[in-house]
Amino acid sequence: MSASLEERIQRLYDDTTGGWVDVWGEHLHHGYYASEEPAKDHLQAQIDMVDALLDWAGGTANETVTRVLDAGCGVGGSARHLARRFGARVDGLTLSPVQKRIAEDLNETAGTQEQVRIQVADANHAPFEDASFDIVWSLESGEHMPDKKAFLTECLRVLRPGGRLILATWCHRPEGTPLTSRERQHLEKISAAYGRSLTWVPLTEYEAHLAELPVRDVRSDDWSNTVRPFWSAVIRSVFTPQGLRALVAGGWSMAKGAWGGLYMRSGIQSGLVRYVVLTAVKEGES
Ligand code: SAH
Repeated sequence: MSASLEERIQRLYDDTTGGWVDVWGEHLHHGYYASEEPAKDHLQAQIDMVDALLDWAGGTANETVTRVLDAGCGVGGSARHLARRFGARVDGLTLSPVQKRIAEDLNETAGTQEQVRIQVADANHAPFEDASFDIVWSLESGEHMPDKKAFLTECLRVLRPGGRLILATWCHRPEGTPLTSRERQHLEKISAAYGRSLTWVPLTEYEAHLAELPVRDVRSDDWSNTVRPFWSAVIRSVFTPQGLRALVAGGWSMAKGAWGGLYMRSGIQSGLVRYVVLTAVKEGES
């Protein structure tokens, strides 16, 4: 019997997270590189991504943010950053028990174990009551979700009226002209490298769903240019003693992930793969 999507995602992150954290650190997402900036440290670029996304989403500066949901939290890199930035309690969801364990160790080191709580649970059936959160944050987990509308609907269910959804995700290019079979194969290769865990859609699909959901102030943008240097940096990091050790220790999943990085890099370069950001406010009075 073939593994379910959830099992494949769990396995992908159970197998590869330790190696990634050793080589790279606690953030499992792209870095943000503004074009006018000098070359910068890649961990810094990842922290900058969190702040740049919050600043772009706006509307959170003057609001009291006491509870945040990080839907697809990895080892809690951005969850801890959000907890500090807002002085908020952050609940993180991941499908990987290994990520939860690493996240809890990192929370202990950072002294954030009270503020940041991690659970192994499906973000499409989030174990929270309606209207629990001021912000729902999804940084590079949407690409794993098989049904984007169901995921957005669930994010909005747990968001309070007036609360803000903030999402950054991998998409494919808009289909002004339909994707070619070569482009489809390229996307398939990326998904295969990441445990057949990705469901590719264009940004317009998210926009169409949001148009049918109870939200206002919807904004979106294509940030592919801001992440362009990222995969080259990842690929370079594999060819360091630490990177090669992680590659050997992580076995086949890790090797495939590194291979997937090459396809991600060329996909972003050619414009096939897009890094998109979206934000919206849930309708209703806060
Ligand atoms: N946002 C984190 C991690 C990104 S990696 C960071 O930026 O560091 C993608 C994460 O999404 C992983 O933690 C994976 O377990 C999680 N994920 C994917 N599908 C999920 C689902 N259905 N429910 C909960 N978490 C999910």
